[in-house]
Amino acid sequence: MGRLRHIIIGHGPAGVYAARCIRKRNRDDDILLLSDEPCLAYSRILLPDYIAGRVSLDRLWLYPQSYYDEARIQLRLRTKITSVHPEQRAVTTENGETIPFDRLLIACGGLPILPGIDGLADAGAVTLKTIADAQAIIARVKRGSSVLVLARDLVGVEMTRAFCLMGLRVTYIEWGDELLPHIIDPATAEELALRMKAAGVQMVVGEGIHRVEKSDSAIVVHTSGKTLRGDTLAVAVGKTPCLNWLESSGIATNRGILADERLRTNHPDIFVAGDAAEIYDPAARKRKLLFGWKNATEQGELAGANMSGDTREFVVTYTPGLKQIFGVDIRHRWK
Ligand SMILES: Cc1cc2nc3c(=O)[nH]c(=O)nc-3n(C[C@H](O)[C@H](O)[C@H](O)COP(=O)(O)OP(=O)(O)OC[C@H]3O[C@@H](n4cnc5c(N)ncnc54)[C@H](O)[C@@H]3O)c2cc1C
Repeated sequence: MGRLRHIIIGHGPAGVYAARCIRKRNRDDDILLLSDEPCLAYSRILLPDYIAGRVSLDRLWLYPQSYYDEARIQLRLRTKITSVHPEQRAVTTENGETIPFDRLLIACGGLPILPGIDGLADAGAVTLKTIADAQAIIARVKRGSSVLVLARDLVGVEMTRAFCLMGLRVTYIEWGDELLPHIIDPATAEELALRMKAAGVQMVVGEGIHRVEKSDSAIVVHTSGKTLRGDTLAVAVGKTPCLNWLESSGIATNRGILADERLRTNHPDIFVAGDAAEIYDPAARKRKLLFGWKNATEQGELAGANMSGDTREFVVTYTPGLKQIFGVDIRHRWK
């Protein structure tokens, strides 16, 4: 086979590990990494500590620019892909440029969900996914001000931790009936709630959220039992793959982009990896989205190998990650 042109959409861990793997296997193929973000790939895991001022910006980067230069991985930042054309083997940028490929990896991750709560869409809530989000949060909150965190995932707990370290007055409002029931067991949830309270967090669990209002002076959240006021509202109730830009592509999607065991989509030269991929889990006999850093790197690497000609199959494993938040050991499959 001659020299191939690989295009990777998305410069998160799945995209970076795929590019690395393709280059390790092949000295000559062209690799083009496309990202709609303006910066080098970074650790999203460290963003809460960056917000809290515990980690500086320069510690976030995964690789310096020199790594890409030496590995001959061409990087195009601020480049949003708006459509994929499998038959023409090309992608189109938002500026209308067409870029051809031989093999394509879609590693576009997911976006934070904003739930359909009355008034929420107009409340100017902050979410956390990118460095830009983190910088917007830093610019918004002032020491001593109050934050309401509407949460149902670990990003919400991590944001709460960061806000406590910043000396803010924090209210954690769980969107579900219990604290993170789909992520941690009841005993861990109880311990975590106690530690969060001890750190000064007002915990509101099991009250639901009926309505959000924004006035000039505050954001007001109405639960079944309380009226809560804050200067800022942060939302972290999960994420979902962003698929609308693929609508006319013919690439099969469901909750995520459908992947076979080799992480191919319904087009054999188009692959998917990371938070955007929906895989079939034979043990559970159902399709799943597997979120998390480790999953993204593993899938990225496997997709990169298969784009280079391997026929490796992805096996779902359930080894949980371990993370300490508020001093509590949390074993998790990241959600
Ligand atoms: C605050 C925070 C803390 C986290 N902590 C942990 C943790 O402790 N442990 C853990 O396992 N996981 C954690 N995660 C989750 C983890 O970061 C994600 O699961 C992982 O980044 C997914 O990698 P990915 O490569 O699939 O996608 P992403 O990292 O989401 O990268 C996708 C990239 O593609 C870009 N993109 C999307 N669409 C397009 C397009 N059309 N054109 C061009 N570019 C596009 C996006 O802007 C983004 O840069 C955390 C996430 C956050 C936000």
